[in-house]
Amino acid sequence: MQTIRTVPPGRVILVGAGPGDPELLTLKAVRAIASADVLLIDDLVNLAVLEHARPEARRVAVGKRGGCESTPQEFIERLMFAEARAGRTVVRLKGGDPFVFGRGGEECAHLRALGIAVEVVPGITSGVGAASAAGIPVTHRDCSQGVAFVTGHSKKDGRGPDWAALARSGLTLVVYMGMARSRQIAAALAEGGMRADMPVAVVQNGTREDQRRLVTRLDRLADDIAAQGFASPAVIIIGEVVAMAAADSLDSLAADGARQAAQG
Ligand code: SAH
Repeated sequence: MQTIRTVPPGRVILVGAGPGDPELLTLKAVRAIASADVLLIDDLVNLAVLEHARPEARRVAVGKRGGCESTPQEFIERLMFAEARAGRTVVRLKGGDPFVFGRGGEECAHLRALGIAVEVVPGITSGVGAASAAGIPVTHRDCSQGVAFVTGHSKKDGRGPDWAALARSGLTLVVYMGMARSRQIAAALAEGGMRADMPVAVVQNGTREDQRRLVTRLDRLADDIAAQGFASPAVIIIGEVVAMAAADSLDSLAADGARQAAQG
């Protein structure tokens, strides 16, 4: 028997909200936010982007921080499905790009398997946005032929990135979710042959007003993170490019350091 739909089909739009600065939203993201009946908002999303939403749009925070347990992934997926099936436009707002360490791929596949139309609006991923905003080019003709985006988080079975292979690759490494394990990551890279004085930067709250930078070297990374009180959300950028940051930006890095020292 053929099923007859009585409501117009809804849809889900996975929207990359960029790294933090609300001005780094794409025009497409603004349009998607304005079209939403329901917004599901990840915790790394700057809430200032909601100024583009309709006042009557339903807003659901599905953050993983804020002291409470993360919203279960199944709940998020069920809510998106139910709202879209009811004919609504659901906007799933994610920090950075929805497909870079954002579970966007899983959500997309899940919803499409259930027959829900899904669109994806790319965003500026924090590994690029935070690095650029901190004056660090992730590639450079003279010293880095490429960049690898790596998670600092291991899967439950203990499987994580092959740090020794990454150490040998000569690529700039941008580590997401790596702050809690910075000591182990630095040790694994050193064991893989990376030199102890490899330049490393940490950029916290990249592109936001409270952006902070730390420039150090591989063997001092974990101690400097602890000493200067750097914390998530932050990316760790490892490679010669950190030293190649434009001269003016290095000046401002020094100024940052002095300001932080004065504050601390
Ligand atoms: N989809 C996101 C990444 C989600 S994983 C993206 O494309 O950016 C979460 C990690 O992203 C954080 O642990 C941190 O490593 C990084 N991150 C997100 N926002 C950041 C910001 N404003 N500055 C620095 N790192 C950030």
